Amino acid sequence: MIYRGLPSDETGETHALTAICSCEIDGRMRVEQEIITNRTDEAIMRAVDIIQKKRDGAELTPDELKFFLRGYLAGDIPDYQVSPFLMAVYFNGMSDAELSVLTEVMMHSGELIEFSGVEKFLIDKHSTGGVGDKTTLALAPLFAALDIGTAKLSGRGLGHTGGTIDKFESIPGFTFPASRTELVEIVNVTGIGIMGYSDTIVPLDKKLYALRDVTATVPSIPLIASSIMSKKLAVASDAIILDVKTGSGAFMKSLDDSKLLASTMIAIGRSFGRTISAVVSDMDQPLGCAVGNTLEVIEACETLKGRGPEDFTELVITLGALGLSMKEGIPHDEARARAHEALTGGRAFSHFEDFVAACGGDCDSLSEYSKLPMADHVFELHADTGGFVNAIHAESVGVAAMVLGAGREKKDDLIDHGAGVVLRKKCGDSVEAGEVIAELYYNEKYSASFERAKELLRSAYKIETDRPEKRPLVFEIMR
Ligand code: URA
Repeated sequence: MIYRGLPSDETGETHALTAICSCEIDGRMRVEQEIITNRTDEAIMRAVDIIQKKRDGAELTPDELKFFLRGYLAGDIPDYQVSPFLMAVYFNGMSDAELSVLTEVMMHSGELIEFSGVEKFLIDKHSTGGVGDKTTLALAPLFAALDIGTAKLSGRGLGHTGGTIDKFESIPGFTFPASRTELVEIVNVTGIGIMGYSDTIVPLDKKLYALRDVTATVPSIPLIASSIMSKKLAVASDAIILDVKTGSGAFMKSLDDSKLLASTMIAIGRSFGRTISAVVSDMDQPLGCAVGNTLEVIEACETLKGRGPEDFTELVITLGALGLSMKEGIPHDEARARAHEALTGGRAFSHFEDFVAACGGDCDSLSEYSKLPMADHVFELHADTGGFVNAIHAESVGVAAMVLGAGREKKDDLIDHGAGVVLRKKCGDSVEAGEVIAELYYNEKYSASFERAKELLRSAYKIETDRPEKRPLVFEIMR
């Protein structure tokens, strides 16, 4: 394909897309589209030159990147040219300037979400994802109890990680606000504004992510950072908090890479004038004990009643305190004490009830758990040998829950809200031979997958004679 375009003007803004697009089909040139330009000094830009430049490690100009990305979004540049470009980025990385342009073009590829009419200080907390990560369910009510609003778009689960939307939808009657007006009303009343992503928000990221998924280019720090940040920047909030996961169940397996991802996203956020902090937290084993939608709602409720697992409670309090210190500028210790009190004193739970009620959900089910969709069968997995749990491979646990129906293998799969896994033993715990280490929850419909799930769960546990060194839950808070 040949794209005739214009170089940038003195403002740096490109006019390259207002051009003639030609396309070679069966050896014949065909003019696809002719758009009138307002400049005469045309320069030629070709996708292949941009790919080559990136392949050879040179820095692309803003115009070249904008031309390439917008051309892809418009359907003018095909997947087969964007795939090698992504691979070139995977190997060569991106400069700060390139990253900023990539993020900006993605962010502006769709609609921007504003919360006009909301008085509260709004925080958008984002986790890079993991197994058993039900943090939003407990953190949003904790923020509400601290007079902080949540402004957040959430997704559905895919693969071994769950999605916040699916978790809330386990609550009978619960539906997310369908319109912006409804969302603003609910934020004003409850302090919690969570809505599902739609196709109109950051569509370029959606298109690029789908391509990255099938071209082995997902685990690239600039691509992940710009993908996440474009979605954060498309939503108006007073502050952004990133929970960057590290370990076997995370995108970033090493601590150094996780810190680099966090600092890259912080730098992007600041370059757009946003207030942003990050924590780097553990995902070497699942977070908390419950994996699966209803099971995670129950664990979030228990945590909001002060009876949650130690690691999950710690993460929620750390993030709550971080949000409070960002809002009020107070020292972390003081913020932590207030977050702890709001969580363990039950105030956060009553905000959770208010939010669930405002979304039409059955609040009784938040205490009478039998009203939630439950699985018919519970299988107890026993330890073959005694010792100490040295590792619980998070991804295997996530896949075990998924094959029992708790998650989706493909985007359109239906899920079974009652299915999942409960870990009775976590890393560092001592175990007797024959003791129950975990449970599988499943319904008859998924019994054909039961053996696979059982083997995945069994293989996830590494029990050894020595007690492992305790891994921190929060490795770093980056303010
Ligand atoms: N999450 C995203 O939104 N994008 C990525 O690239 C990876 C994780």
